[in-house]
Amino acid sequence: MATLFERIIAREIPADIVYEDDLSLAFRDINPQAPVHLLVIPKKPLPQVEQMTEADKPLLGHLLWVANQVAAQQGLTNGYRLVVNNGNDGGQTVYHLHVHLLGGRFMGWPPG
Ligand code: 5GP
Repeated sequence: MATLFERIIAREIPADIVYEDDLSLAFRDINPQAPVHLLVIPKKPLPQVEQMTEADKPLLGHLLWVANQVAAQQGLTNGYRLVVNNGNDGGQTVYHLHVHLLGGRFMGWPPG
């Protein structure tokens, strides 16, 4: 069964998409935790980091590149945070690998 994010890629579920290319998509999180909260996802349905193969290394690097492009587009000139919640203990709820891009306020550490 398609995950929520596959359905967003397929335009079956609406999302506020801010960037798209042949490998990835970036859209606003529906429950933002910061003034800017975007999700950068691969179009390939990779559930979590554990399923990543060596062939996926450029794709994962691409997601970071996209995150930085989008951060600049969103005016995040004072830094930002990138987060990958991975697996149960990582707090992952959608099993389609994604990078959270959070910005527009100072991010505390450690996370909860
Ligand atoms: P995770 O908890 O897996 O790291 O992140 C999943 C994220 O997806 C959450 O931050 C959640 O708010 C977001 N999310 C869940 N459902 C939707 C949706 O239907 N649309 C969008 N744009 N974001 C969603």
